Amino acid sequence: MSKPIVAIVGRPNVGKSTLFNQIGKRRVSIVDDMPGVTRDRIYMDAEWLNHTFTMIDTGGIEFEDDDHILKSMRQQALVAMEEADVIVFVVDGRAGLTTADEEVGRMLRNTKKPVILAVNKIDSPQLEAGVYEFYSLGLGEPLGIAASNSLGLGDLLDAVVAAFPENDGEDKEEDEISIAVIGRPNVGKSSIVNALIGENRVIVSNVPGTTRDAIDTHFVSDNIKFMLIDTAGMRRKGKIDEAIERYSVMRSLRAVDRADVVLMVINAEEGITEQDKKIAGYAHESGKGVIIVVNKWDVFPDKDDKSTLRFTEDLRDEIGFLQYAPVLYTSALTGQRIHRITELVKYVADQQSMRIQTSVLNELIRDAVSVNPPPSHRGKQLKIFFMTQADIQPPKFIIFVNDPELMHFSYLRFLENRLRESFGFEGTPLKLIVRGRK
Ligand code: GDP
Ligand code: GDP
Repeated sequence: MSKPIVAIVGRPNVGKSTLFNQIGKRRVSIVDDMPGVTRDRIYMDAEWLNHTFTMIDTGGIEFEDDDHILKSMRQQALVAMEEADVIVFVVDGRAGLTTADEEVGRMLRNTKKPVILAVNKIDSPQLEAGVYEFYSLGLGEPLGIAASNSLGLGDLLDAVVAAFPENDGEDKEEDEISIAVIGRPNVGKSSIVNALIGENRVIVSNVPGTTRDAIDTHFVSDNIKFMLIDTAGMRRKGKIDEAIERYSVMRSLRAVDRADVVLMVINAEEGITEQDKKIAGYAHESGKGVIIVVNKWDVFPDKDDKSTLRFTEDLRDEIGFLQYAPVLYTSALTGQRIHRITELVKYVADQQSMRIQTSVLNELIRDAVSVNPPPSHRGKQLKIFFMTQADIQPPKFIIFVNDPELMHFSYLRFLENRLRESFGFEGTPLKLIVRGRK
C-alpha cells in the first residue's frame, strides 16, 4: 500500500505553507533525515496516530499562469482532485470568504475525494466567529485553526487521518522488483516502457482488481520478475488536461512510494530540470534506488567518445545528493541500451539489499579513523565505538559514538564515501545514524 497523499489547497497567503511546515515538524524520525536535498520542498512525509502520509503544498507547484490567482487556484484544485486521497482546503478566517474561495469551493464540492475545510488564523477564542461564514461553502464543518501557533492541528489531523481510504491490498508480489518510470512529458517514458514490455515476457496478473485505476505491468526478464508501475499519463494520454498532466507530480510521488527502483528519465538535449530534481530528492529521502536514464541519445548533437563522460560529469554537478545513481544513455527509438535497463535495475535492487557484517564494518571504521581522525570540539574528541548495519532497502547503519554532538556532517559524508568505495552500494541512498553510548 502506498502512503496516502494529502493535498493542501488555498489562496496565496492563507497560511498553506505555514500549515505544511508545522505538520511536517511533527515527524518523529528527524534523525533519519538525509541532508542535501532541496530546501523549497512542496511535499513532505508526516505522521499522525501511526499513519504516515505524504503532504503536498499545491501552492508550491509552479503553474504557467502564476499571476492569475484564480486560474492557478483552479489548477491546484484540479491537481488535488485528480491525485490526492484527502484534500485540505485552507481559507483565511481573518480575511473572510472571498470569491476565489467560493469558486474553488464549488469545484471541490464536486469531487468524490474527502475535503477538509480549515479556517486559518483563528489565533484566539474571540476570533472563533470568523469560522461560521465558511459553512456556506457547503464542504461540511469548517475547522478553526491557527497554523502559526499549531492551534487546532490535532483536530485537523484527526479529520485527515479518518478520511484516508481503506487499504486496498498489496499488489506487488514478494519477489518482484517494482520500477517507477519518472520524468517530464515527452522525454520518452512511454516509449521506454513499451520497449521493455516488447522485449520481455509480460505476465497477466491474477491479483484481483484493486480500486486503483493505475495499470501496472508485470513482466519477466532473465528469470527475474519485474513490475512496472503506471505513472503520469503513460497510459492515460488525453484523459486529463495537458496542463494538469505536466504538473502532475503527485502521481509520480505515489509511484516513487511504491517503487523499489526509480528510473529518472531525462531528455539528452534538455538535461535535468528543477521538477526532476524535486522528484529525485523525494526518491532519495524515501530510500529508493535511483537510475538516471538519459534518453534520446540518438539525437544528441556532435557526439564523440567523451560525450557520455562529459554529460555524466555535468549531471553530477547538478544533482549533488544523487552522486550514487548510475547513468544510462539510451534511445527508445533505436533500442540502444534498452536491454541494459532491467539488468541495471536488478543490480541496484541487489545493492539496496546488501548486508555487511559488523566485523567488516569495524575494520572499515578502524582504517577510516587512522586516515582521517574524527573531529573534536572544545578539546573533546569524537570516539567511534562501532558501526553496525541495522537494515536494508535502503541500507541503514548505526554508528555508536561517545557523544553524537561531536559528529560532523562532513565526517559522516567521509564515512559514507568510505562505505561506497569499499562495497559499492551503487544506485542506493544510505542512512547513517549516530547514537551516543557511554
Ligand atoms: P501561503 O501563501 O498560503 O502558503 O501562506 P503562508 O504560509 O506563506 O502565510 C501567509 C501569511 O500568513 C504569513 O505572513 C504567515 O505568517 C501568516 N499566517 C500563517 N498562519 C497564520 C495564523 O495561524 N495566524 C496568523 N495571524 N497569521 C498566520
Ligand atoms: P513520454 O511523454 O515521456 O511518455 O514520451 P513518449 O514516449 O510519448 O515520447 C515522446 C516523443 O519522443 C515521441 O514522439 C517519441 O517517438 C519520441 N521519442 C521517445 N524516445 C526517443 C528516443 O530515444 N529518440 C528519439 N529521437 N525520439 C524518441
